[in-house]
Amino acid sequence: MSLIGRLCRIPKVFHNGTCLYRSIHSLSSLPETHQMLHKTCRDFAEGELMPIAAKLDREHLYPKDQIRKMGELGLMGINTPEAYGGPGLDCLAFSIAVEEISRGCGGTGVIMSVHNALYMGMLEKYGREDQKEQYLAPFATGETIGCFALSEPGSGSDAASLSTTARLDGNEWVLNGTKAWITNGAEATASVILATTDKSKKHKGICAFLVPMPTEGLSLGKKEDKLGIRASSTCNIILEDCRIPKENLLGKEGEGFKYAMNVLDGARIGISSQALGIAQAALDCAIDYAAKRIAFGSPILKFQSIQQKLADMALRLEAARLLVWRAAVLKDEGKRYTKESSLGKLAASEAATFVSHQCIQILGGMGYVSDMPAERHYRDARITEIYGGITDIQKLVVAGQLAREYGLQDYIR
Ligand SMILES: Cc1cc2nc3c(=O)[nH]c(=O)nc-3n(C[C@H](O)[C@H](O)[C@H](O)COP(=O)(O)OP(=O)(O)OC[C@H]3O[C@@H](n4cnc5c(N)ncnc54)[C@H](O)[C@@H]3O)c2cc1C
Repeated sequence: MSLIGRLCRIPKVFHNGTCLYRSIHSLSSLPETHQMLHKTCRDFAEGELMPIAAKLDREHLYPKDQIRKMGELGLMGINTPEAYGGPGLDCLAFSIAVEEISRGCGGTGVIMSVHNALYMGMLEKYGREDQKEQYLAPFATGETIGCFALSEPGSGSDAASLSTTARLDGNEWVLNGTKAWITNGAEATASVILATTDKSKKHKGICAFLVPMPTEGLSLGKKEDKLGIRASSTCNIILEDCRIPKENLLGKEGEGFKYAMNVLDGARIGISSQALGIAQAALDCAIDYAAKRIAFGSPILKFQSIQQKLADMALRLEAARLLVWRAAVLKDEGKRYTKESSLGKLAASEAATFVSHQCIQILGGMGYVSDMPAERHYRDARITEIYGGITDIQKLVVAGQLAREYGLQDYIR
């Protein structure tokens, strides 16, 4: 059993289907399990990730050893049940862990988040027993990672319009098309790939498939040269008559889009948590610098304009964290959390951009050069407003859920 699995032996406490978190207003109000997890992840991030984050970013390096160690800790299958090699912790634990890892390195945070929430999430929820044994359990160790391929060059926000096709030929599915922007694509040894068996059925023609990597007919495009999160790889996955066994269909035919939207609700909590971690790192950096930098004879922390900036940063960050934790707790309680997850992502991603921007202002010239981490946090933060559903789409999701709450769903398509 993983270290976190052993550390966190305190059972999840449920009563009448309700998770008994007394309160989620601060870390100290959380169960001991979550506080221990927080400390373990913080120590790991400070010891293993912070010292190398700038190098990973500069050289676009995948943190192979660190991901393996995160697997040993239980972080690469954090929600995976013990029967499949994970500690089986809840979504709030996932959020706390992704935040702390991202505080150490934003790129490593997304590797962990996508692997857990999207790849493992699809398997856990919709995989058959034999599929879980082959594609879930070995992936909880951190030795191998998975990816999730929904987006295409021609379809991002409008994911239901995807064009990758799947055709049944005897006992095999034959896949053709190009999936774009795939996080972990360069290192993954398996992917969940969304493809359509009948485009005229729109989202009802979409299926999810388990595709081992490498496999004949599947090739990778070049690694994208990104603004930030450069420890994580992003690339196209090209499918040319790629044949996989018939039994690699995940769940039922025609249900893939529904599955993808479902796990994306959870994945948004991961991206929000990544944003929180980047924002926290930027706030930490700004406060530390403000206490040390002398101008006009005193530390700049004594200037009220700096204090006001710090207060604005803390306001956005801490408010966002409460929203994200609320979404996680609702998920853990088995309640609807689509609106809350999108609200959390909106708040956390915008907080990350705001806080990292202000951090650069507080550092002045030192914020603009790579000697300090501020400019990296700023670059890393930016993606959180784009992937996992861009800001405009999050607002559409929230408005759709609001309309439903007010019985006005007919007004919104
Ligand atoms: C680094 C990175 C990693 C990624 N990782 C993955 C991954 O692992 N797996 C995966 O499947 N995908 C991944 N993606 C894809 C990501 O989810 C998409 O980029 C994102 O959903 C936006 O899609 P798009 O880029 O096609 O933009 P578009 O959908 O083309 O949007 C372009 C603009 O139009 C606006 N827009 C679009 N539709 C509407 C609308 N209805 N109303 C108002 N405005 C609208 C958008 O807000 C945006 O401003 C990744 C992307 C990046 C950059």
